[in-house]
Amino acid sequence: MKSSVGSETRFIPVAQPVLSGNEKKYVNECLDSSWISSAGKFISQFEEAFAAFCGTRYAISANNGTTALHLALLGLNTGPGDEVIVPTLTYVASANAIRYCGARPVLVDSEPRTMNIDPLAIERRITPATKGIVVVHLYGHPADMDPILEIARRHNLFVIEDAAEAHGATYRGRTVGSIGDIATFSFFGNKIITTGEGGMLTTNRPDLNDRIRLLRGQGMDLKRRYWFPIVGYNYRMTNIEAALGLAQLERVEDHLDRRGAVAGWYNRYLSDLSSFVTLPSVMDWAHHVFWMYTILLKDSCQVDRDELMARLLERGIETRPVFYPMHAMPPYLDTQSQYPVADALSARGINLPTHGLLSEDDVRYIATQIRSCL
Ligand SMILES: *Cc1c(COP(=O)(O)O)cnc(C)c1O
Repeated sequence: MKSSVGSETRFIPVAQPVLSGNEKKYVNECLDSSWISSAGKFISQFEEAFAAFCGTRYAISANNGTTALHLALLGLNTGPGDEVIVPTLTYVASANAIRYCGARPVLVDSEPRTMNIDPLAIERRITPATKGIVVVHLYGHPADMDPILEIARRHNLFVIEDAAEAHGATYRGRTVGSIGDIATFSFFGNKIITTGEGGMLTTNRPDLNDRIRLLRGQGMDLKRRYWFPIVGYNYRMTNIEAALGLAQLERVEDHLDRRGAVAGWYNRYLSDLSSFVTLPSVMDWAHHVFWMYTILLKDSCQVDRDELMARLLERGIETRPVFYPMHAMPPYLDTQSQYPVADALSARGINLPTHGLLSEDDVRYIATQIRSCL
């Protein structure tokens, strides 16, 4: 699957995992020892290492990022009748998990530079039923947390960070995942580090750690086996997934450095196209980890976004559109409110290939092809 250098056969996927560390060794240890299910040493090792990485007291593994979000919401007692604020421009899981609890997602527009939830637009959407805020660190750029935390404090709301796309990003020196009441991560195959399918929750709150472990493990009492005081879920990670995760995390700085290098190459090779495309902004308070390098087509650009993506695919370059906003999706359709920023970002944005197997030559090739299409 590695992109080959010959121009005719070149295919550059938008995302690809790098599995060059101890992944195979640790997975084989699971197979050799027959610890392949959701008990085994890699689970606690991965959880401890991930808590250290985020700088939190606790990390709780889950079987994917969506169930991690569901657990976070349940841990904070989200239920029917509650409203939860969430950006309209996100991956659908952020909104779906709110619905799983019987609560109502209340959508908020984005701010244009980081594409994240607009803190100034949050307060207008708060009602007596508002229970909390799910903040998403979209494409690896942290959201502006301080004003959001201030609003949450004033209205007594919880803050969940959906950090599925932002492992290792920092906000004013704080690592994402350690800023809100609780945070969730995804380790799907295209994320910054991967376990195939997998997720994690991070928190400093002992009450949430206990409650989420209870909910995750079918509701089984943590001290009394086969005693079930509540209805729980089976949302556990397997030892094999944790083995992959631990190996990925051992090399996380390398994974992050590679993405930083890719972003730097794009900035260099696309800089002369600045009259046609907007390159990603990085706020001075942010460390952006570039899960996706995103360009926005300007008005001056004559080529339609979908047309440009189709032409790039003909040249062996896979891209993705920026997410369609939730307010346009049938389950969350909202024609009453206006979301002009999210609409514009969604209509004009393209995620370029961003992953750790790209070479400088690949990025130069992609930039050359974009230039020729424009
Ligand atoms: C990937 C992702 C999720 C869901 O994670 P899965 O592991 O695929 O369930 C949730 N939120 C955001 C923002 C994501 O990008």
